[in-house]
Amino acid sequence: MKIPMMDLCAQYSSIKAEVDNAVAQVLTQQQFRGGPLVEAFESDLAAFARAHHAIGVASGTDALYLALRALPLQPGDEVITTPFSFFATAGAIVNAGGVPVFADIEPATFNLNPECIAPLVTPRTRCILPVHIFGQCARMDAISEIAARHGLAIIEDAAQALGASYRGQPAGAWGMTTALSFYPTKNLGGAGEGGAILTNDDEMARQIRLLRSHGAETPYHHVAVGVNSHLHTIQAAILHVKLRHLAAWNEARRERAAYYTHLLRDLPEITPPRETEGACHVYHQYVIQVPERDAARRFLHEKDIGCSVFYPIPLHRQPCILDRTSIRAACPEAERACNEVLALPLYPEMPPEQQDAVVAALTEHVRRLHRK
Ligand SMILES: *Cc1c(COP(=O)(O)O)cnc(C)c1O
Repeated sequence: MKIPMMDLCAQYSSIKAEVDNAVAQVLTQQQFRGGPLVEAFESDLAAFARAHHAIGVASGTDALYLALRALPLQPGDEVITTPFSFFATAGAIVNAGGVPVFADIEPATFNLNPECIAPLVTPRTRCILPVHIFGQCARMDAISEIAARHGLAIIEDAAQALGASYRGQPAGAWGMTTALSFYPTKNLGGAGEGGAILTNDDEMARQIRLLRSHGAETPYHHVAVGVNSHLHTIQAAILHVKLRHLAAWNEARRERAAYYTHLLRDLPEITPPRETEGACHVYHQYVIQVPERDAARRFLHEKDIGCSVFYPIPLHRQPCILDRTSIRAACPEAERACNEVLALPLYPEMPPEQQDAVVAALTEHVRRLHRK
């Protein structure tokens, strides 16, 4: 049985008529940039995330970059973030002129550890950028307290966590701004690149709308040097359809995660994902820790079972970031996570027999280790 990491075809076939209609509408209207379809999606997205504004942009990476630019970040400003994330988190900070400063993560959740943040604050610190990794919110109450105490802004990277919540507040509710990604494999994925920024701040929203359109206040009158970064109308039309299903899909992910954790209860060698008290995890990825991780990955691949390592290298060890960061603390938990994590196949339409087969293969891997 071949088991993929995810199956976008299964999702498409469940909503094919709706998606095809939405795309046909755009082709009929021939408006490919902006327009009522983008505005309708932005407005429903804002309502879904309980934010005042949602602003579509070309990618999650651009969402982070524009959120930082709009602060505004001054050259050399420091941004405290996690070393355990996709490269875009650190890349956007550097591209916006900032200096990423990495604080270690919590071993149980892989999220930024609030206790590691305060010792890194200097007069140059401008912002804290937590990532809600794998679909679970960082401990935003503690992080918000630190930010308030030191007068720092918060930008949330919720690229993996749209629909997640913590202590009753949705991802995106704590930050000045929040970056979302609609990359096809994300929980809400488009048919290509896309992203959005959430904010409750009217002035911030105005700045971001300016910067995403080359700083043009009115056509051909440029008051800032920005970028050209818009959510394509076709993407907005498709995402608008999919947004209506997102809550159910996230719930289906949670059910499948619970089933994995149930199946793994007899394998004490394997650590399943742990949920923070008060968190609603939306399982963008189901990530275990497993002994002899690389051997486990090879073994699963030999059996045609998809699995991936997110992330093999912490951001502060990426050569192009090394000379642009200011390393003030070791991040042993992030290093350890990079060596032990393995993401298992998980998608809303995943049948239970596939999950049984994945855990059977992991059981075999553990038995082989004992025999050595
Ligand atoms: C996907 C992702 C991004 C970047 O989003 P793109 O749309 O691929 O540019 C940023 N941060 C995290 C944590 C992500 O997972």
